[in-house]
Amino acid sequence: MRVTVIGTGYVGSVTGACLAYLGHHVTCVDTDESKIAKWQRNEPPIYEPCLAELVTAAGKRIEFSTDLAPAVRASDVIFIAVGTPSCPDGSPDLTYLEAASRSIGASMDDSRFRVVVNKSTVPVGSGNLVETLVREGIEESNPGTRNQVEFGVASNPEFLREGSAVADSLYPDRIVLGGSDDRTLGVMLKLYHPLVEQSFASPAAVSRPAALVRVPVVITSLTSAEMIKYAANAFLTVKIGFANEIANICEHVGAEVTEVMQGIGLDSRIGSKFLNAGLGWGGSCFGKDVQALLQTAGEYGYKSKLLQSALEINTAQRKLVIQKLQEKLFILKGRTIGLLGLAFKPDTDDLRDAPALHIAERLIQIGARVKAYDPIAMEACRALHPELKIRYCDGPREVAEGADALVLVTEWREFAALSLPELAEVMAKPVLIDGRNLFHPEAAAAAGFDYAGIGRCPRPSNDKRETKTVALR
Ligand code: NAD
Repeated sequence: MRVTVIGTGYVGSVTGACLAYLGHHVTCVDTDESKIAKWQRNEPPIYEPCLAELVTAAGKRIEFSTDLAPAVRASDVIFIAVGTPSCPDGSPDLTYLEAASRSIGASMDDSRFRVVVNKSTVPVGSGNLVETLVREGIEESNPGTRNQVEFGVASNPEFLREGSAVADSLYPDRIVLGGSDDRTLGVMLKLYHPLVEQSFASPAAVSRPAALVRVPVVITSLTSAEMIKYAANAFLTVKIGFANEIANICEHVGAEVTEVMQGIGLDSRIGSKFLNAGLGWGGSCFGKDVQALLQTAGEYGYKSKLLQSALEINTAQRKLVIQKLQEKLFILKGRTIGLLGLAFKPDTDDLRDAPALHIAERLIQIGARVKAYDPIAMEACRALHPELKIRYCDGPREVAEGADALVLVTEWREFAALSLPELAEVMAKPVLIDGRNLFHPEAAAAAGFDYAGIGRCPRPSNDKRETKTVALR
């Protein structure tokens, strides 16, 4: 099938590359000329593992362009994957979605039936809005033709995670399709057939999970599909918030949160993922989507205490890091604090709503000096946040040199392998605030660190039981 994807950010580019890999002919369109120029050279403007390889494997079936109209006219399916950032009041800014919808309408003719698919995360009712705007676009460019041009609107929310976006898109847990007519849904099922049946050969670098035979498809109304995306993200923020609440209680009572979460996560009703206590979630989606859901609920006169709490708990976790530094060092003014990690999570360069930014900003406000190292996100941080006077370092050792404390902010794999004794040795004060509970408290103490994790209660030195760790993520 012929597909256009509008927006070549994390979602649009991965969607386009995966559909092209599956055998469709895809044109990815963006208004940002510099981004398109990079894509045309297959130099992805974003960091996403295996994406460039997938684009290469798709060969001539994928192209990148700033010219929307010919792409839309030649397409059976047009995906909207533009950003929907938060407005100051928490509601989603639909400007990009609206502009894209109108442009789609303005580009359509009556040569075929097309499906316009909303992949951006948008509030309930946006499917209707897209349909109206596409019709207005048709009418504005070709007056009198709004009823001759045939199209359907579908909602197909995206659940990929940055850092594993290619695998998440090729091997999703489910595909959600919202729509109101069989013709539209039929086109979507045809498009996703190879993905549903897993009938394609796996790319060498992204192997298929052994247990995956068929991907479930959830077919719903437009409204339910739009709600599913918000409900999924809201649930995850509540789950992490819950782990953090328990962590904070653990600190009071002397329990170890990693053991507690292991103990509850093995309960199949609960599940072990998203139970990692720490300094909280970040990224472009969770905060924005929970705010948007609260805003939507508010429009209907409903106030969600649970979702409001999830946001508040998360903000508090970031502040907790500062408190822990104050407990260890008393005075932060004039101190040098080293941050290990800047990206909101490992394997991405995305800094949107990254906890590291808030922590750095607060430390600088207090009068501390901030040094930082991140394997991927330093260039982005330098470019996007010149206001943050961070000293960027070449590696963790340089961050540690002369620092009064280290804060582990992002759990990059390479940080787990660090030699703690070597870091402690070069610091002015060997204080380690482990914001992701990445290190064993005992190992950190043995390395000479004054260590604090989140919700952790190191075993007394006469407790010789082996500490077993189970990956909870
Ligand atoms: P992004 O900001 O990385 O990319 C959006 C792209 O759209 C930009 O390149 C921008 O230039 C382009 N764009 C804006 N208006 C355009 C127009 N009229 N025509 C063509 N291009 C246009 O955003 P993203 O992270 O890919 O997210 C896109 C949507 O998907 C958002 O609604 C987001 O909430 C949702 N989502 C994101 C993720 C994620 O992990 N990033 C996961 C699931 C869902």
